[in-house]
Amino acid sequence: MKEGLAIGVDIGGGSIRVGVYNVKGVELRKAVSPTPKNLNNDSFLNTLKTTISAVWENNESYTGIGVGSPGPLDNERGIFIASANMKGINNVPIKDFLEREFKIPCSYENDANCAALGEAYFGNFQSASSLLILTLGTGLGGGFVEAGKLYSGYLGNGIEIGHTTAVFDGRLCGCGQRGCVEAYFSTEAFKGSYLEKTGTQLKDAKEFFERLDANDPIAFEILKFGTLALAHAVRGAIHLLNPEAVVFVGGITNAYNHFGADLESRIRSLIFPILNDRLKIGVGSGFSGSLGAAGLVFSKRGIRNG
Ligand SMILES: [Zn+2]
Repeated sequence: MKEGLAIGVDIGGGSIRVGVYNVKGVELRKAVSPTPKNLNNDSFLNTLKTTISAVWENNESYTGIGVGSPGPLDNERGIFIASANMKGINNVPIKDFLEREFKIPCSYENDANCAALGEAYFGNFQSASSLLILTLGTGLGGGFVEAGKLYSGYLGNGIEIGHTTAVFDGRLCGCGQRGCVEAYFSTEAFKGSYLEKTGTQLKDAKEFFERLDANDPIAFEILKFGTLALAHAVRGAIHLLNPEAVVFVGGITNAYNHFGADLESRIRSLIFPILNDRLKIGVGSGFSGSLGAAGLVFSKRGIRNG
C-alpha cells in the first residue's frame, strides 16, 4: 500500500485540477474538469466531488486533501466566500463538504499561498529558509513561507501584495480601490493600460508581449512603469519580511526575459545593501497549482520533501 499520499486541488475560473502526490511531490494521477458554466454552490461542489473521485483509489492511504482557490476565503472554517472570476460562488463550505464526502482532513488556503508552499517544499528555492512568492498572472498575488510554515494572516487573506499602493489615487483596480500595484503589473493591467493609451483591446498577456517584440513604444512604456511599480512593492515586502528568497511564478513569468533583469536590478538598488548581499531573486519552478495545494497537506503534518 502507498502510504501518506496527498490530494491537491487547484480551483480556478476556467478549470478544477486535481492531482494525487507522494511526499516527494511526484504526481501519480490527475483529473481536470472545466469549472461549470452555470456556476452556483451546488454545481461547483458536484464538479469538485466528481473530479476528486476520478483520482481516488480505495486501496491507497491519503493523508488529506489540500485545496487552493482565489479569494476572499475563510481558511479556518474552510469557506470559499466569493471570487471576481467565479461569479455564482457564495460562501461555499468546501472543507466541511470534502471531509464529509471523503472522510479525510481537508486544508484550504488561497492559491497564491499554495503556490508559495509548493515552491518552498518542491521548487527551485526549497533550500531557502524563508521565501516570498509573487504570482504574476491575471492578477498579482503573494505568499510567504518561513521554516516550512505558511504565513496566511488572520483567516487566510494575508500577503495581498497586489493591493498595496503603487500610485496614490492612480488607476482603478479590480478590487475597487485606486493605485494598487496590480493595476500596473498584471495581465489585466497591461491590457487595460494598452486600451486606454491606444484604443486597442488585446486578448491576453501573450499578445501584449508580442507588441513588445514588435518594438511597440506604448507597450514598452507600460511594462517599464509596471516593472518600477512592482519593484517598489517588492521593496516594501522585503523590508517588512526580510525573506531569504523572492520568487516569481505565474503565466507572466513566461515573458521574464522582457522584464526580469530590469526588475531584479531595480529591486536590488532599492533595498538596504545588507539585505541585497544575501537576497536570492528568481523564477520559480512553474509547476501546477494542485501540487502547491498538496503541499498544504504535508505542511499541516510537518512532512517536508520526503
Ligand atoms: Zn486592488
